[in-house]
Amino acid sequence: MAIEKRRRNTQQRKIIQEELCALKTHPTAAELFEIVRRRLPRVSLGTVYRNLEVLHQDGRILKLEMGGAEAKFDGDTRLHHHVRCTECGAVRDVEMSEPIDPSANISDSCGFDIQGYTLKFMGTCPSCRESAGNTDKNLSH
Ligand SMILES: [Zn+2]
Ligand SMILES: [Zn+2]
Repeated sequence: MAIEKRRRNTQQRKIIQEELCALKTHPTAAELFEIVRRRLPRVSLGTVYRNLEVLHQDGRILKLEMGGAEAKFDGDTRLHHHVRCTECGAVRDVEMSEPIDPSANISDSCGFDIQGYTLKFMGTCPSCRESAGNTDKNLSH
C-alpha cells in the first residue's frame, strides 16, 4: 500500500516535471496545475505546489521569485537569465551568447556565504507593446 502510494507520487512528480519542461512560459504553480490536470485529473493544486517545491529543492527545476507576486517555475536549469514584462508580468528567457554568472566574480562578500543571486531584466513584451501601439493608433484617428 505504502509502496503503491510512493510509486504514484513519483509518477505524478515525473509528469509535473515533464509538463513544466515542455513550457517556455515560466508558469506559476496555478498555471501549471491547469495543464497538469489534463493528464492527472485527480491532482490537486496543493500537490502540484508540493511537488514543485521538492523538484526545486532537488535542483531539477528553477523557482523564480517574483518579489511579492506568485513565484514562477522553469524546467530549464541551465544558466540563463530572464526578462520580465513590467506591464503583464510575463517572464521569458533572455538569449545571450555567453550568460553572465555574477557569483563567479565575487571578490569580497563581507563574510557572507553566498547561496544565490537575482539578475532580472525588465521591459515590455511584444504583445503589450503591440496593444500599446494599437491604442496610440486608435487615439490618432
Ligand atoms: Zn506584457
Ligand atoms: Zn527560463
